[in-house]
Amino acid sequence: MRILKIDHVGIAAESMEGSLAVFEGLLGLDCAGTETVAEQKVRTTFLPVGDSELELLETTDPEGPIGKFIAAKGQGFQHIAFRVEDLDGALAELKAKGVRLIDEVPRKGAGGARIAFIHPKATAGVLVELCERP
Ligand code: ZN
Repeated sequence: MRILKIDHVGIAAESMEGSLAVFEGLLGLDCAGTETVAEQKVRTTFLPVGDSELELLETTDPEGPIGKFIAAKGQGFQHIAFRVEDLDGALAELKAKGVRLIDEVPRKGAGGARIAFIHPKATAGVLVELCERP
């Protein structure tokens, strides 16, 4: 597997407006618009930071993954996303090594990306997303 860069860092937000007030209002990043990913029960927005981005995630349903995350751990850092050249190849490689995956097959992420999560128990407590962009 070849990791190309940190694609983005995912931040769980109790409220999109509250987090935008910090990252846009206070720190001066620019919001590139919001998108709802119905499958994931989230509203997301990306704020470019140089060659990477910050992803803010607000749940649209308390039972969704971000809703559950915030209920358990509170808002803040949620996942790191590494961009890979070949997501299918990366997943095959991890499966062959017996690594516990949340997504055995890629799913659709925001912005037309293909994504898959590795279980944080397999990655030292950090939720890792692998993503491939067209
Ligand atoms: Zn992400």
